Amino acid sequence: MKNQLKKELSKIPDFKEPRISLEQYMTPPALAADMVFTAYMQNDIKGLKVADLGTGTGILAIGAALAGAENVKAFEKDEEALSQARENAEDLGVEEFIDFIECDVEEVEGDFDTVLMNPPFSVHSDVGLDFWGKACEISEKVYGISPRGAREPIKDFVGNSNHEILGVEAYSIGLPPSYGFHTEESRETSVDLIVTGKVNKE
Ligand code: SAH
Repeated sequence: MKNQLKKELSKIPDFKEPRISLEQYMTPPALAADMVFTAYMQNDIKGLKVADLGTGTGILAIGAALAGAENVKAFEKDEEALSQARENAEDLGVEEFIDFIECDVEEVEGDFDTVLMNPPFSVHSDVGLDFWGKACEISEKVYGISPRGAREPIKDFVGNSNHEILGVEAYSIGLPPSYGFHTEESRETSVDLIVTGKVNKE
């Protein structure tokens, strides 16, 4: 199934006009497929309610729908990205399983089984922690991608929340040249897939 997912997700075109200010970059299909498959194997996708915070081109939401989520809510504040995501879901035949919602992550409300996200996270701001805060608030489980350098701040943050860290897996991905690496086609960077779950306080 992972290869099938990767094959399908590879059909999704990148952001037409990525807005650097919103840190729009698409999760590489191989990593997106891995993330969705990991969640699927933990029984965190099939038949469940999933949210994708900052859906961008929709790759994680679409992956969750392909893997059998009952419903996916894909939140995004950039109207253009959202309409691209909607189109992509139609092209892959999963639009009936996904609700696309235009709003800031701060406004998101709901009760979800699983959050999948690749939030903006630059060294210049800690807006990514807003995403982690929201994700922990609304969901039982969270699967989030973050730069390697953010591992400790996120661990600290989650340690003080209603969630606990369940796993951290390291990956290496190529960032697109639009991110300022003008000398190379793309540059390898280390990221983590961080998994958290709600603490059972019984
Ligand atoms: N989830 C996609 C996109 C990751 S890029 C993927 O994995 O490929 C991060 C996305 O978050 C961008 O699309 C950006 O527009 C969106 N975003 C940034 N700040 C946001 C905010 N405050 N509220 C909602 N979406 C936001």
